[in-house]
Amino acid sequence: MSINRLRLNFAQAIEAYLQYAPRLPQVPNDAVPQTTDYVDNLLAIADQFDLIVFDAFGVLNSGPNAIPGAVKAVGTLQGMGKKLAVVTNDASSSAEAILARHRNRGFDFTKHNLISSQQFIAPMMNAHVDINHWGAMAPTHWPFDVLPDHVEPLGADRALYDAVGGFLLIDSENWTDAQQAMLEKSLADNPRPILVGNPDICAPMGDFLSVESGYFAHLAADVSGVTPQCVGKPYHHVFEEVLRRHPDVERDRVLMVGDTVHTDVLGGLASGIKTLLVHQGGFLDGQDIEDVFARSGLRPHFCARAIGHGISDDQDASGEPACCDA
Ligand SMILES: [Mg+2]
Repeated sequence: MSINRLRLNFAQAIEAYLQYAPRLPQVPNDAVPQTTDYVDNLLAIADQFDLIVFDAFGVLNSGPNAIPGAVKAVGTLQGMGKKLAVVTNDASSSAEAILARHRNRGFDFTKHNLISSQQFIAPMMNAHVDINHWGAMAPTHWPFDVLPDHVEPLGADRALYDAVGGFLLIDSENWTDAQQAMLEKSLADNPRPILVGNPDICAPMGDFLSVESGYFAHLAADVSGVTPQCVGKPYHHVFEEVLRRHPDVERDRVLMVGDTVHTDVLGGLASGIKTLLVHQGGFLDGQDIEDVFARSGLRPHFCARAIGHGISDDQDASGEPACCDA
């Protein structure tokens, strides 16, 4: 990832999530729990669930590194026979590449576990039968051949912005203020569809919050009046796919685990499943979480510091050393 990519601070990010909440899926009031149960870690409530759905950034990893205890917690759940899914808005690379990164961090996931927002981009494009030339917010090395139609990465040439029939906002790595300005001017002059493959406002990158495609989509929407069409959390496609893959699991035995109120928790609540919010290494790390709940009108069923808080990656879940040379 580029260390030069555009960044937000927490206050800017939470303001953006609150400002753009009307464009997000709406959660019925009775789907929001009255209170949040603060628990030690995910294993403390695992007996209540058969299928556990993980967000990746801020839950399993922060930037390139696994969050402490996460590998052990996931391995313990797998040992208990729990069904697991990983849903990611990281549309920057193929499912195989995302899976390889998780495996390198120590997570034993297979392709059956992973659901990426990227797989829903092509169906969204196909709904626009009148458009066959798209301009993309994505690095030139993005695998455009997985998409239908003619897709070109948007660069420094304003003429391309004006020539395309619609825009795909997929991956904001390398995206600049100058490119965003051209996108906004072109859309203001000639409104066209904005399709978003990663609706996140920001992503925790270890020691900073990167600006993600969703934020740029909202800015473009503000100047053009075009409502972005989105796939990925908190939108319904990924949650429906999770439930479709596990038709034998009762909905009240499904838990969504995430680090962001307006993507993971909102999406889980809108889908009628239980939610666990974690914060170590995630979007809300070090923040006043109850204040965010109060301002957003949303809250999860459970909150923990991390899925594996208090569990050493060198120990089993009982606290006994997995390998003891004493
Ligand atoms: Mg996240």
